Amino acid sequence: MDGGTSLERHPAQRTRQIDALAAPIFVSWQLTRDCDLACIHCCTESAPGKSMQGEFSREEALAFADELIAADVPYVMLCGGEPMVVPYFLELAERLGEAGVQLKIETNGQRFGPEAAERFAKLPIRSVQISLDADTEEVYARQRPGASLAKVHAACRAVRDAGLPLEVTFAPTRVNIEELPAAIARARALGAFRFNSGALMRIGNAAKNWRKLTPSDAQYARFRATLDREAARSRGDGEGAMELCYLPFRMEEGLQQLLYEPPATLLVLPNGWVKAAAALPYVVAELRHCSLSEAWHNYCRAWQSPLLVDALHRAIADEAEHAAANSWQELELAVCNA
Ligand code: SF4
Repeated sequence: MDGGTSLERHPAQRTRQIDALAAPIFVSWQLTRDCDLACIHCCTESAPGKSMQGEFSREEALAFADELIAADVPYVMLCGGEPMVVPYFLELAERLGEAGVQLKIETNGQRFGPEAAERFAKLPIRSVQISLDADTEEVYARQRPGASLAKVHAACRAVRDAGLPLEVTFAPTRVNIEELPAAIARARALGAFRFNSGALMRIGNAAKNWRKLTPSDAQYARFRATLDREAARSRGDGEGAMELCYLPFRMEEGLQQLLYEPPATLLVLPNGWVKAAAALPYVVAELRHCSLSEAWHNYCRAWQSPLLVDALHRAIADEAEHAAANSWQELELAVCNA
């Protein structure tokens, strides 16, 4: 018993927002798997020197940026791995930003200083998001081997000193979960406008180390209570207070929403592959062989594929399914004519 009619299992017959669009509204673009850290929970399995085979060259990345600009894609997130280790990262951000594309930058903050902040301050930056998932050097370095929490705090200050919007993210594990209250207080003191969290995603390194890393039910109960309390406090503090963003709490709950309205989002991997969703392994296009328009068309069709919709149902029913997210598989429609 799957609990659904055939229409519910394959809901693509309904009108969807994406069908009315000629291009995505948002592109999440992982520039590299290389990173200066080797986090125990990393969902992309990034690490120092661990580039993905066939990552885009500078010329390919700039050419794709020009496609995004030509298609009037309004909002792009540049992430990784660590984007600051990519030699052409600032050039790429400037190519997009100077053309009016709004940007979000995701960084671990280890290399983000005043110089980068001042260059970004000239661009339409919606936010710089920095990982702030502990409040002591000892715990931060256990969660993120190779990291300095002092550098993270300095990066947050550089963002705010340049007048840029700062958001932070806290990925809970058994290692760091008890430092949530202190990290929230720190984020407020550093001037963050948003604090992102939620249950640990069972993808990548987190999936490999799941038993060691996943918090206990009791730890999660305290964690949720803290988030609820701090969110209520922010609401009481009124306009300008730091928003706490942690719902849907579990990835399965977020996936449920995709069934009814796939997001107008393309998720681009460092080698130009386009994934349907972070928790699913399906590649719907390869940008070396597909134009942006073809990739978008494939993405929209992918959400009508029984294979993908069934995989989504399995991922909603069992979070252990998410562990296969990085074992990429091409959907048949990944072939383009370009
Ligand atoms: S900083 Fe981010 S990308 Fe790098 S290893 Fe850690 S979680 Fe992964």
